[in-house]
Parts: sequence; structure tokens; C-alpha cells
Amino acid sequence: AKSNAALLARREAAVPRGVASAAPVFAAHAENAELWDVEGNRFIDFAGGIAVLNTGHRHPAVVAAAKAQEDHYTHTSFQVVPYEPYVALAEKLNALAPGDFAKKTLLVTTGAEAVENAIKIARAHTKRPGVIAFTGGYHGRTLMTLGLTGKVTPYKKDVGPFPADIFRAPFPDARQGVTVDDALKALETLFLTDADPSRVAAIILEPVLGEGGYHPVPNEMWQALRAICDKHGILLISDEIQAGFARTGKWFAIEHSGVVPDLISCAKSMAGGYPVAGVIGRADVMDALAPGGLGGTYGGNPVACAAALAAIEAIETEGLLARSTALGETFRTRFAEIGARTAPYRMWDIRGLGAMLAVEFVTDFDTATPDAALTKSVIAHALKRGLILLACGMHGNALRIMVPLTASDAIIEEGLAIFEAALADAIA
Ligand code: PMP
Repeated sequence: AKSNAALLARREAAVPRGVASAAPVFAAHAENAELWDVEGNRFIDFAGGIAVLNTGHRHPAVVAAAKAQEDHYTHTSFQVVPYEPYVALAEKLNALAPGDFAKKTLLVTTGAEAVENAIKIARAHTKRPGVIAFTGGYHGRTLMTLGLTGKVTPYKKDVGPFPADIFRAPFPDARQGVTVDDALKALETLFLTDADPSRVAAIILEPVLGEGGYHPVPNEMWQALRAICDKHGILLISDEIQAGFARTGKWFAIEHSGVVPDLISCAKSMAGGYPVAGVIGRADVMDALAPGGLGGTYGGNPVACAAALAAIEAIETEGLLARSTALGETFRTRFAEIGARTAPYRMWDIRGLGAMLAVEFVTDFDTATPDAALTKSVIAHALKRGLILLACGMHGNALRIMVPLTASDAIIEEGLAIFEAALADAIA
């Protein structure tokens, strides 16, 4: 029989430590919101492969669609011989994305690649170099996306220099003393000091900061950014890679604000566990690059496209947008109860949109000092008790919920009971 310890030792010898794993166990099998390791231990999965599994592990329709596609062809490269699943997925994304205008979609493989291409397309269309991103934003681990990412440790440490013409503006986080007004004033100052707005191609932000701590962008911020972009001919990009595809109760989280972006980057839960990502945008913008300027050998792999079409259909037919909203309410209520009962004054600021929800651990309510050690301890105790949790946030003290939206109420309650027991262990 295989053991987690033996596999961990092999892993440590064969795989660089830079690719860290949250759980010291090895997967054997998974289904919907449950996972079993190689020793037969069962876990409830509140991490969903980092927000990839809104439709759960191995959704039957997603697996069936991928298997059916595998019986025909698994790769031709869209740049050599195109195939219908790519086109069908592009059509579907164009129809789902907000905006009453003609759209086109580029498919790639990873989220970082989607962001890279969104920036390339924005630069090619505007013929401008500048890009503005925000504090605490996370956009990927390639060099352009790291440049856009607003958090040094662990992502940006020792791997610069990053591409030029990237500017940083403060994210509006009232808790940190940054109001929407403050953030907009800082942006106007940035236009005066460093980033000539007539040389800025795009402003990119996540509708809910993901790795940065599940802080939603206030609606007034989106509205103001839209006006600023329109005034200066700047493109507005919503990075929906973590927040999209029902996580917040909408297809795209920016829809909560009513603001329509020019470009959207998407990935993760769009395909229920298969690697495909996209840039969706205004047709004229998307056509900025000449033939051959976009692509990649594997971009829009047919098996992943077939899986994505099935995952999107499952979100539609199983009512997962509404389910996300309801689950968000459940987690809000239960976190408040659990915090008051088991860790008074240590669980604070339950926040998010829909089921994209996080809660912070602090030393006390008066100072609200982030408590990353307690957060780590809760996660470790939860794992021992059979629940997979992930942290996030600039100070590593936020716990985020990315549970499959297909999870039953019973599984959610079982997970919450484990969470409460783990919290009690960690506080003790
Ligand atoms: N943007 C956002 C908002 C993300 O959450 C992520 C992944 N966590 C990325 C970009 C990068 O995606 P990938 O890891 O697939 O490259």
C-alpha cells in the first residue's frame, strides 16, 4: 500500500520546494466535494483545487464530455487544424459575458496566460504601453503577471526585474483606511506623477481580490474606473479567473456592479478541472493582433473545451448561481455563530460576494491584529480532522471558502462542524 510519508519523501527529492503544497497527503480519488488520500483517509474539500471546482470533482457530465471528446481527437493544435469545441466555447463565453456589443474570445491554457494575452491585446489595440494594477492584486506567476501582482512574498521575491510600464494604485479597503475616494485620488495622482493617462493601455483588477484576501471591489469604484477609462481611452480589464463562473452568484463578478469591462480574463471553474482559460472582449479590441500574433500550441485544447462546455451547462441546469448566493448566506451565518461560540473576538470581518467568502483571524477585536499563526493552526487541525481549507490575504490570516457549489447541505454542515472542532483545537 502507498503511504503519504513515502510519497512526500519522493516528492521532496524530485520536485522543487518552490511549488508548495498545502496538504501533506496525496490524492487517490475524489468526487464532488470529497477526496480520499492514498491511505484511504477521507476529506471534505473546501478548497476546490483553488476555486476550480465550482461544479465539484469529476462532475459526471464534465467527465463524460471529456471522455467523448477523447474518442475523436485530443489535439490537433487550433493553429493547424481548427475544431468545433473551441468555436462553440468562444460563442458561449461571448454570449455569457456582460456587454451589449459584438465579442470575441481567445482560448489559452492557464490563468496567467489569459492575463498576459489580455495585456498584449490591450497594448496592441491602444498602441500604448502602460498598465495599472492594484495593491494586493494577484494575476499569476509569469513575469508580466508577477509585475501586475501586488504582493512580494512569496511570489515576486528574487525573480525580477519585471516588465516596464506597470504602475500600482491602492486598492480601496476601508478597513485599511483606504476609501474609494482615497483610492481614486491616488489614481489621479499616479496620472500626474508616473503614468501619463494618454500612455496607459489598461487598468486591470479582480472584482474580488482572490489571493489578496477576498475583498470585493466597491461598486462605486468600478463605476468611477469605467468613467476614468472612458475619459482617457483606457481599456478596463476584469480578472475573473478566481471570481467567475458562479463563485459569487453571477457568471462574472463584475456583473454585481452593473459595469461592463472591455476585456475579461477567465479560467479555473470555467472547465471544472481541465486546463483552459480565456480572454473575452470587444470584437474590435480582440482583433488588434495580426494573424499569428496570438495562440500557443495547446491553447483551447479540445478535451478541455468539451469539459468547459459541460461545466457551463451544469452551472446553468443545476442553478448554481442561486446556489452560490444561498451558500454564501449559510457560511456568513454559520461563521458568525461559530466565531461567537468557539473563538470570541478572534474571527472577524466575514466578507465576500456570494459563496466567495472569507473570514479573518485576529488577536483581538480592538487592534484587529492579523493572526497568521492561528490561521495556520486551524488549517492544520482541520486537515487532521478531515477538512481541506486554504488561507489567503496580504497577512495570511484570512480563511477562504471555495467549496464546490454542488456540495450537499449535509456535506457543508459536516465541514463546518469539523471547522468548529479544529478552531477549538487551535484556540486551546
Ligand atoms: N488571476 C487570478 C485572479 C487568479 O486567482 C489566478 C490563480 N490563482 C491567476 C490569475 C493565475 O491563474 P493560473 O494559476 O491558472 O496561472
